[in-house]
Amino acid sequence: MSEEDDEIVLQLADPPNCARCGGPGHVSAQFSHSWKNASGEEVPGSREATLCPVCDHGEPGADGLLTFFKAHESLGASELETFHNLAAAWVTVARARQADQQQLDDEYERFRNGEL
Ligand SMILES: [Zn+2]
Repeated sequence: MSEEDDEIVLQLADPPNCARCGGPGHVSAQFSHSWKNASGEEVPGSREATLCPVCDHGEPGADGLLTFFKAHESLGASELETFHNLAAAWVTVARARQADQQQLDDEYERFRNGEL
């Protein structure tokens, strides 16, 4: 995987609402996410995750970033590194979760098609 494939875009201003509960999100992350279709071809795509203070509460990776948002109304230059580290930890967990979901959907589809 090249560096370019792994680009993550964080949106702090007006992030979209949480896809799970519809509440306001703190920050959203867009990252590349490729998967294999039924014929085994790599399908490039991108996914988005929103950090939600309700749904992500108690999640490893998300909690650190949520606590950070509680403590900091705005992002100062001195907090950038902390923010960056916490955001990276959250995105890692969010990506893994979505990949799992993709795999589950895929397996369910194959099950329905009688391939499993
Ligand atoms: Zn939510």
